[in-house]
Amino acid sequence: MASDKLLVSAPSIVDRDFVKPKLYGPGPCDYWPSMEEALSKPIITPNCDEFYHVLDDIRAGLQYVFQTKSKLVLAMSGAGHAGMEAVISNLVGRGETLLIASRGIWDQRAFIIANRLGIKTEVITAPTNATFSLEQLEPELKRLRPAALFITHGDSSTGTVQKMDGLGELCHRYGALLLVDTVVSLIGVPFLMDEWGVDGAFTATQKAFSGPAGISPVAFSALAEEKINNRNFEPPFYFDVKLQAHQWNCYGDTRSYHHTLCAPMLWALRCCLQEITRETLPVSWARHAASTAHFHKRLQEYGFQLFVPEPEDRLPTVTTVVLPPGIDYLEFTKYLREKHNILILEGRGPTVGKALRIGIMGVNATTKVADTLADALVDARNAFQSANK
Ligand SMILES: *Cc1c(COP(=O)(O)O)cnc(C)c1O
Repeated sequence: MASDKLLVSAPSIVDRDFVKPKLYGPGPCDYWPSMEEALSKPIITPNCDEFYHVLDDIRAGLQYVFQTKSKLVLAMSGAGHAGMEAVISNLVGRGETLLIASRGIWDQRAFIIANRLGIKTEVITAPTNATFSLEQLEPELKRLRPAALFITHGDSSTGTVQKMDGLGELCHRYGALLLVDTVVSLIGVPFLMDEWGVDGAFTATQKAFSGPAGISPVAFSALAEEKINNRNFEPPFYFDVKLQAHQWNCYGDTRSYHHTLCAPMLWALRCCLQEITRETLPVSWARHAASTAHFHKRLQEYGFQLFVPEPEDRLPTVTTVVLPPGIDYLEFTKYLREKHNILILEGRGPTVGKALRIGIMGVNATTKVADTLADALVDARNAFQSANK
């Protein structure tokens, strides 16, 4: 026996008690009740028909949620960042220019990813509590003629939602593709890929989808597909959409192996899509809008200030709330966790020390959750204010 050769002895891995908080932060979000069963379904592998049935269901569901007729829709193994890296690396090559419309931390991630790929980056900024206008973006598109524009639809670091109407047309006029982060907006806010001329979009399953993190849906337009088929650069092997399209049987005639897809994640994504397609997008959008409107009304009645001044810029899935001076954001979130078992987050990037980030999305997009949150926020504020006296 080689046991005397073991340099590292077995650690003691013990179970600990854990009380799951109510997940009311900017993500991850609580699961659909049907998720537990979905996650315990059998392992499926590429040599059984059921595997391809599941992929077919997922692709049909993704065409619906992205609102695209494109055949090139699939899901990357990995969290939302995998989708981001896939969309950028498949559509913009080394030496080409990516114009990044930057207002939060996600566009900063796009900037880092693009630079590592040797892509030339140009950045245009908007105030962190506002969004971009077409008038602001057009001169930069005209001047730089970039290969693509990257923009975040819903920004969970600032609580803003970008208007998209007309943006695709504008980009195409200057020869640029339009790449969009919809991680925290899809399902919660209207998104119309084909209608808006979006060329590359990605999302994730742990925000408004109400599933586990770990699989990242992506969709590519006909224009994007043309670029992918004619490009003279190669993306990282793992993110190569051309190869993955074969694994996902996007065109209905290929069943090939690229890498092992995680079966529980496929079942989980399928479960999310089943729930969303049963509810339908218009009903889901209206539910998110109504619960957040109710939340904002309650907050304003209690004298809380919202970080985003213009109502039309406010993201229905994630709300940023400003606390009265003298209250520490981190201490405030700790209090909510300890006293109310509610998990919300402090600011990130441009909102550090400036706002709380509160998610009312997916299964949690209800008036009941909005009321629970508003009541808890008032209690916490009162507790801090009387302690400060
Ligand atoms: C959460 C989030 C991401 C990152 O997703 P991960 O799954 O953590 O990689 C990207 N963009 C936006 C807008 C997000 O809210």
